Amino acid sequence: MKNIDLRNSRVVVMGLGRFGGGIGVTRWLVAQGAQVTVTDKETAESLRGSVEQLADLPVTYHLGEHPDSDLDGCDLLVVSPAVNKARSAFVQKAVERGIPLSSEMNLFVERCPARRIIGITGSAGKSTTTAMIGSIATACAQAGLVPAVWMGGNIGHSLLNDLHRMTADDLVALELSSFQLEDVERVRWSPSHAIITNIKPNHLDRHGTMEVYTAAKMNIVRFQKPDDVAFVSAADGPLAEEVRKAGAGSRLRRFEFDPAFSDALRVPGRHNEDNAAAAIAVARCVGIPDDLIARGLSQFMGLPHRLELVGEHNGVRYYNDSKSTTPESTLIALNAFSVPVIMMIGGGDKGMSFDDMCRQIVRKAKGVVCYGATGPKLFELVDRCATGSSPSARVEKAGGFEEALMAAKAMAAPGDVVVMSPACTSYDMFINYEQRGERFREIVRSFAI
Ligand code: ADP
Repeated sequence: MKNIDLRNSRVVVMGLGRFGGGIGVTRWLVAQGAQVTVTDKETAESLRGSVEQLADLPVTYHLGEHPDSDLDGCDLLVVSPAVNKARSAFVQKAVERGIPLSSEMNLFVERCPARRIIGITGSAGKSTTTAMIGSIATACAQAGLVPAVWMGGNIGHSLLNDLHRMTADDLVALELSSFQLEDVERVRWSPSHAIITNIKPNHLDRHGTMEVYTAAKMNIVRFQKPDDVAFVSAADGPLAEEVRKAGAGSRLRRFEFDPAFSDALRVPGRHNEDNAAAAIAVARCVGIPDDLIARGLSQFMGLPHRLELVGEHNGVRYYNDSKSTTPESTLIALNAFSVPVIMMIGGGDKGMSFDDMCRQIVRKAKGVVCYGATGPKLFELVDRCATGSSPSARVEKAGGFEEALMAAKAMAAPGDVVVMSPACTSYDMFINYEQRGERFREIVRSFAI
């Protein structure tokens, strides 16, 4: 694909989306001199924000449909990782016509000049680990040890438009989703440094089976060279075994959190120690000294909406964990603290079982407020678990979001933490989890006024 001359070629971008990948690749293709058509099954109205970002470019749009005529004379089809290619009639027709397929990520990795590309995948912790590495690498660049640091991929930024400024000695941190990794197999590429944070059942609706999902993730090591390095947790024997089977003889490093970095790590929880352990291991491997690693880690305050500290009022710290839409991630939040915790749970129903989560909340939390669409159901469950249990959390029910936060605030004493970790979707009251998190932040800020 590297040799395809994009100048004056006709390229169709399938899937514009709202998160950067489609926008970045479209901008880059136009800059290469390609004639670009963007097609997306979503309507112009719902994609307005994305289209506006490209308003300065000569792009043809076919939104709300994927017309077959777009494939006439098409030299390259760039497919979004969100598209299930096996199920898409449009993609299948392109394949039948012999049109080459690519993706934003494939176009990038085929051209990236950096010798050291750190790829990060896993079922949970990808973005956090990527951002920690970004923070450490930035401390390293500020000290003049590397010329520049680039962070992108699934974390929400396309690096294609930065390519022309990259050099061989730069450090690149790339978050790779299983869908992006499914695509890179086509170009037989793996990063020089590959981290797999963990593998748990996820996205099985799209990948089908755990085997297919794991195989996609293993593409991160499959094409590594002997000098390349793969990193997995020291505690995860089965994953190390998978990597040994899939890796093309690259070196395997097992990471474990070094308590010497406890003071530098600002984000709470065992899971963040695991993420930091991965970041520290790869940083040491690329030659970053421990003092700069500690400096970089200490500058990382957490990603928005993932156990993010948004404020402190009357000695109570407030954490926004709006990204938590499953009982598992809410349990991670619950167990991240050694001080008394007041949990805010509830929201839209995904049909998941809350039994185990409620049992653990009753035992561990100081208080819990159940709100939103699942509020009554959660209240009943927690209340039932609380009966006869000792110790037992105080349980309250609230209708609205603000009311729930006020109830949690009323329960908290100095030294406690209030954690909004809903275990449910935001769709009962908000457009998305980001909006829910922003509302939480706003209300917490208003406490100080
Ligand atoms: P991803 O990018 O893989 O979705 P994030 O870094 O955004 O992961 O974290 C999302 C949520 O996943 C966190 O709020 C936390 O609940 C959970 N999580 C993060 N890191 C880990 C980990 N190492 N192990 C298990 N769960 C984790």
